[in-house]
Amino acid sequence: MATTNPTVTTYQCPKCPGAVSEVHGSWGCTDCGYAPPHGAD
Ligand SMILES: [Zn+2]
Repeated sequence: MATTNPTVTTYQCPKCPGAVSEVHGSWGCTDCGYAPPHGAD
């Protein structure tokens, strides 16, 4: 029985006390809008 928890992947924003989270496939800080470097895509 595999129960998938709705885990929200976030990490500490390097620019502010906010959290960087993945929203619709794009990473961004919810506070300052910081977007981490993205691999060549
Ligand atoms: Zn931030």
